[in-house]
Amino acid sequence: MHPPPENPSIHSSLHLPSGQTLLIDADDTLWENNLYFEKAIAGFIQHLNHKHYSHDEVRAFLNRVEKESVQERGYGLHSFRHSLLRCFESLSVEPLTPEREQEIIHFTHVVEDHAIEFLPGVVETLPALAAHHQLLLVTKGNFEEQTAKVERSGLSTHFAAVEVPAEKTPESYRNIVEKYRLNPAATWMIGNSPKSDINPALEAGLHAIFLAHPNTWVLEHEDVRTAPPGQHCLWLEGFADLAKVFS
Ligand SMILES: [Mg+2]
Repeated sequence: MHPPPENPSIHSSLHLPSGQTLLIDADDTLWENNLYFEKAIAGFIQHLNHKHYSHDEVRAFLNRVEKESVQERGYGLHSFRHSLLRCFESLSVEPLTPEREQEIIHFTHVVEDHAIEFLPGVVETLPALAAHHQLLLVTKGNFEEQTAKVERSGLSTHFAAVEVPAEKTPESYRNIVEKYRLNPAATWMIGNSPKSDINPALEAGLHAIFLAHPNTWVLEHEDVRTAPPGQHCLWLEGFADLAKVFS
């Protein structure tokens, strides 16, 4: 997932006229998110203190459990808690008592309890973008958790609507295009996840803008695809750079 040095799709000099529609991801695009899960996981692995498996081996096992939990239960904190508990049950020689269950769930509190930490440039840039373009927030996951976070952020006034698909697939992007009668040629998906934001949006005929985040969740890793003819896929350094493209 490293930017190729001579990627032909980098157009830092592109300037788009007003009236574009920007679909903007939330977690790790507007604010920190995966960082808190990483903290919870670090606490859990330390607590598990496995005698035979290394930190990396426990983490690899947890990644597999998380993938299964997401398929069974969708994204969200309930799914994450389930994954940690299943991981403990599978790897620990100790039984999962109610006390141990509470100890493990305690590690996930960091995910809920933190104040929202906006990524650099977000708070200043969003109003400037909203003045000339239509903004839609598109964040996957648990509907209640995601909408509560948007409300808590105080940023919802900049967005014409908030969409929370269970998964970001080409079809979910096509549904959004249809629902809001968008023109794909003037619609841009902006986010940090190649797997959820960039590649499926390109497949649905939209333009995409990749904002890499060093803490992107491992299950979101994928190579960024090349934009099909007539579509753009831009790589920008940070959120503030959007103001240079969308003036
Ligand atoms: Mg994201």
